[in-house]
Amino acid sequence: MEKIIKALENANKIVITAHKSPDGDAIGSSLALFHYLNKLDKNVTVIVPDAFPVFLNWMEGSDKIILYDKQTAVADKVIDSAEVIFSLDYNGLNRIGDLRNPIETSSAVKIVIDHHQDPQDFADHYFVDTECCSTAQLIYEFIEKLEDLDKLDKTIGECIYCGIMTDTGSFRYPSTRSKTHRIIARFIDLGVSGSKIHQEVFDTYSEERLRLLGYALTEKMKVFPEYNAAYISLTQEELKRFSFKNGDAEGLVNYPLSIKGIKFTALITEKEGYVSLSFRSKDDFYVNKIANEHFNGGGHIYAAGGMLETSLEDAISKVESIIKKTI
Ligand code: 5GP
Ligand code: MN
Repeated sequence: MEKIIKALENANKIVITAHKSPDGDAIGSSLALFHYLNKLDKNVTVIVPDAFPVFLNWMEGSDKIILYDKQTAVADKVIDSAEVIFSLDYNGLNRIGDLRNPIETSSAVKIVIDHHQDPQDFADHYFVDTECCSTAQLIYEFIEKLEDLDKLDKTIGECIYCGIMTDTGSFRYPSTRSKTHRIIARFIDLGVSGSKIHQEVFDTYSEERLRLLGYALTEKMKVFPEYNAAYISLTQEELKRFSFKNGDAEGLVNYPLSIKGIKFTALITEKEGYVSLSFRSKDDFYVNKIANEHFNGGGHIYAAGGMLETSLEDAISKVESIIKKTI
C-alpha cells in the first residue's frame, strides 16, 4: 500500500483498464475508481478493449469510456502519457485483446486490482483477494486502505453496487460476505437505490432478447441428469435470427443450474472465426481448471470461460466428452 500511495501521490495522468467484453464488475469497478480519483483531482481515463452491454450505460461516466477497438489512436496517445495504469478485473494481458500492446510497452506504474486466481507477472503492484466476490468490492477496500471512505458518494456507490450485484448473482453466490452486505448498506444510506439498479440492469431486455432466452431453454438446452450437467449451444444463424446484441447472452449460462441436481453448465456460442465458452458450477464442481486445461481460458472456481478455434460442432463434442469423462 505504501508504494501504491506514493505512486498515486506522484501521478496526475491515470489510465484505468478492464477486460475484453466488459461486464458489470469490469465497468462498475472502473467507473467507481474513476470517480474516486477525479475527487483527488487526477486526470483519469477509462479504456476498455471493446464495447460493453447497453444495460450498463446508465452509470455516470460510462459515456466517457474509450473503446480501444474503435478509438485506438486516441487511446494509444492517452496510454503513452499515463503515469499510472490500473488493471481492473483481470490478471493477465491475454484478457485485454489488442490493448495488450500499449499496456505492455508503457513505462507507467502498473497496479492490478482483481479477484481472479493465479495473477500473471506484468504489473508493479497487486491489490488482490481471490476470495473476494468482485473487483468492485476491492475498490471499496482499496479506498478504505487509503483511509478515504469519507469520499464515497452516491455516484461511486452506484458503480460499486452494480459490480457487486452482477458478480454475486444479486448477493446469492457463496462469495457474498457479511462485509459485502455492510458495504451495500452504507451505499443505501448514501442514497443508492438497489431496486433502481436491478431494474436498469435486469429489466431492460429487448423483446428479442427474452425470446432468445425462451428459445435457448426450450430448444437448445441439453441436460445430462446422470452427470449433473447441462449445456446450451447457439449458432451464428440463431443469434442473427434474434438480432443478437452485445450482452444479450449475459446470465443465460446460469439458468440450467436452477434445475435440481445440475451442478455444471456450459454456454457454447459460435462467434466469427471461433467458439466462445462460458461455464458455471456449484458445490463440489469447479470450472476454472476445466476452462484452463481444455478451453484456453480460466476464471473462478464457480464461473469461468474460454475459447476454441474450432467449429461449433467440435466444441460441443468436446464439452460432451468432458461431461462424460472428466465430470
Ligand atoms: P463469463 O462466462 O461471464 O464470460 O466469464 C466468467 C468468468 O470467467 C469471469 O470471471 C471471467 O473473467 C472469466 N473468463 C471468461 N473468459 C475467460 C478467458 O478466456 N480466459 C480467462 N482467463 N478467464 C475468462
Ligand atoms: Mn469480476
